[in-house]
Amino acid sequence: MSQQKKIFIFFGPPGSGKGTLSQLCVRELGWSQLSTGDLCRQNIAEKTEIGKQIDLIIQSGKLIPDELMIGMVEGWMIKQFESMHVLLLDGFPRTIAQAQAFDEMLEKDLFEDVQVQIVLFSLDDKIIEERLTGRLVCPSKGCGAVYSTKDLHFAPQKEGFCDRCSARLVIRPDDSPAAIKHRLELYHKHANELIAYYRNRGNSMWELEANKPLDELYKDFLALIGCE
Ligand code: AMP
Repeated sequence: MSQQKKIFIFFGPPGSGKGTLSQLCVRELGWSQLSTGDLCRQNIAEKTEIGKQIDLIIQSGKLIPDELMIGMVEGWMIKQFESMHVLLLDGFPRTIAQAQAFDEMLEKDLFEDVQVQIVLFSLDDKIIEERLTGRLVCPSKGCGAVYSTKDLHFAPQKEGFCDRCSARLVIRPDDSPAAIKHRLELYHKHANELIAYYRNRGNSMWELEANKPLDELYKDFLALIGCE
């Protein structure tokens, strides 16, 4: 019997732990994750045509155009479902246009019988600002580990260097105070619209309280998916 194909949409404010939890699911559960933010940063680092178009947009904390994002995500999903059964979307859809395009994608034969579950991460803005201003990330391709200068649980073993690949850690350009403010404003604007959109469509949304250590967050998530 073929295994049920599933997509989990991790939806929540920047810095709420979506990326860290999805990386853990990839390691522990063998799922496949797409962080649309990482995909954008990879294009910028590799100086692709798309990367050149989006570099300044990302630095300022704005969203990149929907059409660009939708095309990249659909291409990734088609490729992943050739060999994977559970996909995790971290950072997509982020606007109504993206949610509508995503729904249209799912109507195609290729995605027939795919189950979608939305997971909403909730975290107070004050804590988000605190987290993001202390965030360090590994810039190595395929790593992207996240650390903190403020939370000892997330401190690297050797200050300033990645535990996994030893690369020098960096501050993301869009973790500047001005860009954080902008990203949070945009998040709330789109989140309200998106949550209303999914409620109207009758989609179920699981809520995850994100103000806790990663192992507890992971446990809560496992309980939601029935894997305690
Ligand atoms: P993130 O790593 O998810 O915080 O995303 C970093 C940046 O990438 C965002 O501030 C946007 O500029 C861009 N980005 C990521 N995902 C999307 C998306 N779904 N739609 C538009 N822009 C995105």
